Amino acid sequence: MTTKRDYYEVLGVSKTASLDEIKQAYRKLALKYHPDRNPNNKEAEEKFKEAAEAYEILSNPEKRKQYDQFGHAAPGMNGGPGAGGFRDAQDIFEQFGDIFSDLFGGGGTSRQRKAKRAGPMPRRGHDLERPITITLEEAFTGTKKDVTYYHFVACETCKGSGMEAGTTAETCSSCQGYGEIHIRQGFFMFSQPCATCDGLGYIIKKPCKTCNGQSRVQQYDTLAVTIPAGVSDGIELRVAGRGDAGVYGGKAGDLILVISVAQNKKFKRIDDNLECTVTLTYPQLVFGAQVEITSIDKSKETLKVPRGCAVGERLVIKGKGFPRLKGRGRGDLVVTTTCHIPTTLSTEAEKTLKTYSEQIGTSIDNSSEGTISGFFKRFLG
Ligand SMILES: [Zn+2]
Ligand SMILES: [Zn+2]
Repeated sequence: MTTKRDYYEVLGVSKTASLDEIKQAYRKLALKYHPDRNPNNKEAEEKFKEAAEAYEILSNPEKRKQYDQFGHAAPGMNGGPGAGGFRDAQDIFEQFGDIFSDLFGGGGTSRQRKAKRAGPMPRRGHDLERPITITLEEAFTGTKKDVTYYHFVACETCKGSGMEAGTTAETCSSCQGYGEIHIRQGFFMFSQPCATCDGLGYIIKKPCKTCNGQSRVQQYDTLAVTIPAGVSDGIELRVAGRGDAGVYGGKAGDLILVISVAQNKKFKRIDDNLECTVTLTYPQLVFGAQVEITSIDKSKETLKVPRGCAVGERLVIKGKGFPRLKGRGRGDLVVTTTCHIPTTLSTEAEKTLKTYSEQIGTSIDNSSEGTISGFFKRFLG
């Protein structure tokens, strides 16, 4: 057995050197003694391995502590009696690839390794978005809808494991479970997905026949959804756990219903208010009135029209608008007044109206006689 040099001495650093100093020292030595720069130089190769071994120990706080205490005799150490150390430069690059990556502007050498896999990792299923259109009345009252959608569900045969009952996945022997193979070209390390396991790191020996080892299958499902009163256009309702099933037993995603509210001919929504118009007669606007109006949900509301009400006045019936989704209460029912202008009048009414016009001193078109349709008759004839 050859006498081993002290690791601090190998790297040329002090016993109190920081991790950064150790890293710097090792990089310098690794580049100097790299086999590519020293072809067929046994001594350089040995020094290269020696530096890597020292670095492996001193860069690891736990191992460094052991080494400081017990020296090369520390248990479980490469430097311990009979330990083999590193096999070759490939081995070293695989282990410490990261330390060189920034030297070469990145990308050239091995980046962080993928995590080692012994079997499939459970992954959360995707959230699914589905549009759903409701009427303004349904938004006002709330409604129930059946939503039919296509999604992934856990395979019933294998209960989401992707494997035949009683079988397990195995770590891929080609890549030792890392899912990638490292290829060295000179200084540079390339990694590519392992072809044996398709980059997964594991192999399912007996995939479930129902789902081909995918752990889930796609199917249509219909879900009864309660849409609360007060929802507005564009709002998203999240139904937890009803999206795509998770992969290999992972958590299911959510189903997100994107609500669109269809336009209504008579009513519209402004914030939490329900708005509509009411058509009143001239006397109603002049004298005021109480009129019954029918709201969007067919309920009857009493509208109080004040005396001397203008056309375009906005009359508010408190608390009869949309339920507020956040917070309590409801918006208002806002009714805008408009005036009904008759196109036909009884002879009596026409006479009375003309008299009224004279009394208030307004000029009117006296050429039209009887009715407005009479005017058209004259005009066309
Ligand atoms: Zn299955
Ligand atoms: Zn593999």
